[in-house]
Amino acid sequence: MKKLIASSALVVLLGGTSGVVSTEQVSANTATKSPQQEEITKKNLTEQSVMSVAWYQTSAEAKALYLQGYNSAKDKLDEKLKHHKGKKKPAIVLDLDETVLDNSPYQAYAIKEHISFPEGWHEWIAMGSAKPVYGAKEFLKYADKKGVEIFYVTDRDHKQDYKGTYKNMKDLGMPQVNKEHLLLKKEGEHGKDARRAKVRKNHDLIMLFGDNILDFDEPKESTLKSRTEFVKKHKKDFGDKYIILPNPMYGSWEATLYGGDYGQSPEQLDKLRKQELTYFDPKTKTTKKSEIK
Ligand SMILES: [Mg+2]
Repeated sequence: MKKLIASSALVVLLGGTSGVVSTEQVSANTATKSPQQEEITKKNLTEQSVMSVAWYQTSAEAKALYLQGYNSAKDKLDEKLKHHKGKKKPAIVLDLDETVLDNSPYQAYAIKEHISFPEGWHEWIAMGSAKPVYGAKEFLKYADKKGVEIFYVTDRDHKQDYKGTYKNMKDLGMPQVNKEHLLLKKEGEHGKDARRAKVRKNHDLIMLFGDNILDFDEPKESTLKSRTEFVKKHKKDFGDKYIILPNPMYGSWEATLYGGDYGQSPEQLDKLRKQELTYFDPKTKTTKKSEIK
């Protein structure tokens, strides 16, 4: 058992995934190379995503979290509509990827082929066959029935992805899927602020839905600290005006770890992924920041 634990820990250090590399293989590797000397490849990096994609695709907990988000959103929507005042029509804004649509088959493909975004991404969208996340369709149908305007604000590329996205959403029977409400990112556009402002101009934007902090607001800077500050500042908004949904597979949280630069070497990206981790140290019986440099 001791040997197994040690091996698993080493696999994590090496950037591999437990279950993929056997104890024997690890022993063989360590005979010739120390973890520091081990070369980190793109394959190692993509395999680090196995557990997050497995959780997202197979766990009951992921499904329950989506239901929790959309169930509580329904109650909040009722409450907000009850107190709605003014001439502007109530509206909601939803992100698409991992908020309404489940793209985890693309993430699994990326692991299998050891590729990274955007390789294969536009082909996946063109297929138009992403399934909806739990609870999304029921909630959207309910909001539609209640007379709420629904805007889908996604950073999918308007030019390349509109057709596939439109087909996917229509085939799923999602409400209000048309040019006015399905807003993809146009050339030269950065972030979602301008599109949200456009919605606010003629509507009372009562709720926003996303799997990413940027689906709610555009912070001035993107650092771990500023993102945490944003959440603290809006602590009463989550579960109320803001409905956040689970996505452990990718997101601006990951970009923040890399300082926004995905073009770094696999070795560097691996290091950046690990250096913010807080470790338990059994010797000192404390927790501390990573010593991996
Ligand atoms: Mg998203």
